Parts: sequence; structure tokens; C-alpha cells
Amino acid sequence: MSHPLFAPDFKARPWWWEAAEPPDRDAPLPDRTGVAVVGGGYAGLSAALTLRRLGHEVAVLDAERIGWGASSRNGGHVSGGLKVPVAGLERAFGRERARQIVLAAAASFPFLEETIAREGIACDYVRCGRFTAAWSRRHYDALAARAEYLAEITGMPTEMVPRSRQREVLGSDHYHGGMKVAATGSLHPGKYARGLAAAAERAGATLVDQVRVRGIAPEGSGFRLRTERGELRADAVLVATNGYTLDPRGTALPWLARRLIPLNSYIIATEELPEGMIDRLFPGRRVISDTKRVLNYFRPSPDGKRVLWGGRASFRAATAEDTAPALHGYMAECFPELRSVRITHAWTGNVAFTFDWLPHIGVQEGVHYAAGCQGNGVAMATWLGHNAALKVAGAANERFALDGLPFPTRPLYSGDPSWFLPLVGGWYRLRDRMDRLAA
Ligand SMILES: Cc1cc2nc3c(=O)[nH]c(=O)nc-3n(C[C@H](O)[C@H](O)[C@H](O)COP(=O)(O)OP(=O)(O)OC[C@H]3O[C@@H](n4cnc5c(N)ncnc54)[C@H](O)[C@@H]3O)c2cc1C
Repeated sequence: MSHPLFAPDFKARPWWWEAAEPPDRDAPLPDRTGVAVVGGGYAGLSAALTLRRLGHEVAVLDAERIGWGASSRNGGHVSGGLKVPVAGLERAFGRERARQIVLAAAASFPFLEETIAREGIACDYVRCGRFTAAWSRRHYDALAARAEYLAEITGMPTEMVPRSRQREVLGSDHYHGGMKVAATGSLHPGKYARGLAAAAERAGATLVDQVRVRGIAPEGSGFRLRTERGELRADAVLVATNGYTLDPRGTALPWLARRLIPLNSYIIATEELPEGMIDRLFPGRRVISDTKRVLNYFRPSPDGKRVLWGGRASFRAATAEDTAPALHGYMAECFPELRSVRITHAWTGNVAFTFDWLPHIGVQEGVHYAAGCQGNGVAMATWLGHNAALKVAGAANERFALDGLPFPTRPLYSGDPSWFLPLVGGWYRLRDRMDRLAA
């Protein structure tokens, strides 16, 4: 497909893959292992690394290539936040447990920084800070209340930036001010995925790609995994398949699929911009996301030459090419000077939402799982994988607040949300328009 906004060398694949495409591996499938980790994204790789550091034998199996899923496609914004409003958490769990959940999530951020530093992962990581841009005045007030809560519970420094000072952090008048959070960063997701895989391999994990797990059955004191390349026996299993859990070619843990809502998120990369433009659009070079229900998230590329603009451009099955012009339109509303800048790359990947908007780890019929990062999983998936690994190994010193929470599903829900997502998406867009009109 061609479009006037597409550069002549346009590619429908992640810009990240230019520098760090997930490589092929040709490791044979072992007959047996200590812990079989299904899914080779940040969660599975981080779990493998921790398990190896604890001395367990591990094989990570991925249906595609290691790191091929959301982990090499995301926006590379790094934070330890949750998507669920604090009031909702307190209603569901009470004030004290809500506080523990917020703290457990916030701990993902220092854990990610520690992992990158300890393993020497070269992934363009910078603690650049984030600006959350308010879509309306009411959203600004809600952010201010959240900033106070975050500061009180986690001690995390935040600063509200009113609309009159917005240009100090964002070269646009499109939003109603917002919140600056210092303890947030950015990285190159493809390089991080590769680096984490290399760290797990160095520690002694076996990484096997092109092997889809089609079923897991108990056998003796362990498990038998049925794969498209034969069978594997393992003492324990951790499923970390997140937004790719449900697949007609084989689903490792259907129970988990019924609790996850896979959703496409889309990103475009612009062509290289004239010198100095990035610093005008992103003073301080922070990552930015907005408070819309149908959110936009954007940032400069690590080399400071392009804009990477992401969002939920469609709630129906749509390709990255189909949705790229819409994303470009959102970008041009925010940065009118980019109206005629062309797109060199467009891509999509699956994120996994949950019905309670929380990430989860736990055990179902003896099989461990870690999933549900609500599109905010660079730090969180790494952290969930680590905590799930501690649980598998029986090495957790204290109970992790996201472990074993009730994990809701809905009657008759099989894991395929395609019939209701367009309705929900339409409703969210309408609410966004109404919020803006009321601003
Ligand atoms: C476009 C996009 C933008 C995003 N932006 C951000 C962002 O800026 N910041 C942020 O924090 N988060 C972001 N996210 C979310 C983040 O990328 C994810 O939460 C995180 O990567 C999830 O990691 P994971 O290991 O759980 O899953 P994944 O990386 O998705 O890995 C799951 C793996 O499981 C494999 N698999 C599935 N089924 C099977 C099976 N049966 N057998 C074997 N293997 C199987 C898949 O092939 C896949 O490789 C974004 C996601 C997307 C898609």
C-alpha cells in the first residue's frame, strides 16, 4: 500500500528492528528441563535470568523469535505506574492493600534500572523523565490529585506544569498542562530485548525459538508440554505469553487467555527532522503520553532525529499501514509543523489488558503465569517475570502484592475481544470528545 505520507523507503515493520531485529536461533528443543518458560519477551527472559541466578535449569520457548512480540515493538517509555485509578484500587482492595499494590508496581522501575546496570545492557537507556499531558482541565485536576497520592505513598517526585508553562516541557499548546515525573526513562526496546536475552544465555538459560507450545499437561510430579516440534518435560512451567496468548495455532494456557484482552497498539516513525527541531518539540527530551482514554504516547528516537508517535489508532483488525495516516493526523494536531513530514516506518504489536486493569502473577493448576501489563510493561513485565521466578523457585522473602489476586474473566469470554472492542473503542472516543468539549 502506498500513501502520500509514506516516504519512498517506507517499511511496515518496527523502526527498532533496523538496529536490533530479533535474531533467529537454531537451538534444538531439549527433551526435558527444570523450568520451561513459555514466551520469550521481557517477562520470560527476566524470569529465566532470575531462575538461572538461583541455580535452576531453564529453557525459554517462543513460538516466533525470542523478543519478537511486544518486547521489541513498544514505545520504549519506562515507568513503574499502574493504569488503574487509585480510587478504584481502594474500592476494590481497601486503602492498605491498594497502597501495597501501588508500591509493588513502583518497585518495577528501580528493578529495571538495576537489571540494565548489573547486566551491562546497552539499550540507550536514559532517565529522561516523563510528561503526562492533560487532555482537558478536568484531567489536569485529576492528575494533580494523583501526583499528591504518588508523592505521599511512593515518595516519587512529581511536578504539575500548568498550561501557561507547558512550552517548557512540550513544544505544543495542544494540551491543558500536565504532570512531570522524574523517575521515568526511555530505552531502545529492541536492544533491551536482545540484551536481556544475551544476559539470560550468559547465565546459562537455553533459548529456543520457532516452537509453539500447544498444551501443558501434568505428568508425575512435573509437566509435559506439547509443542509443534515434539514434547518437552519440565519440573515446573511459567507461561509469559501476554498479548499473544490466544492463537488459533495453539494456546499454551487457555485459562489465561480467558483473562486477557489482547489489543493492538500502533506506532509510526517519522523521517529524520531538521537539526534543532526535536529540541523545540521536546524540550528536555522527555517521553510524553496523554490522558485520553484512547491514548497517544510519543517521544524522540534515541538518536534525537525523529519522532516516534504511538496510539490505539484502531479497535478493529487493521494493519500498521492502514492506521499510520490516522496516527500522523494525531501527531500533526499536536505538532502542526510536522504536517508534511513523512513516515518511514509503521508497525503494530499486541498489548494485554485485564478486566481489573492490574498485572498478575499466580499459579493455575500448578502452572505459573505472569501477564497483563496494560500496555505499560517495559519495567513491569521485567519485574513480573522476576517475581514469578522467585515464586517458582520458592525463593520469595515476602508475598508480592500482585501475586494471586483474584483474576477476573467474563461469562462466555474465550479470549477474543474482537466483537466488543469496536464498541468500547467508539465509547472511549466519544468520552474523549465530551471531556474536551467540557474542558
Ligand atoms: C506497540 C506497543 C507499544 C508499547 N509501548 C510501551 C511503552 O512505551 N512502555 C511500556 O512500558 N510498555 C509498552 N508496551 C507494552 C510492553 O511492550 C509489553 O507490556 C511487554 O513487552 C510485555 O512483555 P511480555 O514478555 O509479557 O510479552 P511479549 O513481549 O509480547 O512476549 C510474549 C511472547 O510469547 C510468545 N508466545 C505466545 N504464545 C506462545 C506459545 N503458545 N508458545 C510459545 N511462545 C508463545 C510470543 O511469540 C511472544 O514473543 C507497548 C506494547 C506495544 C505492542
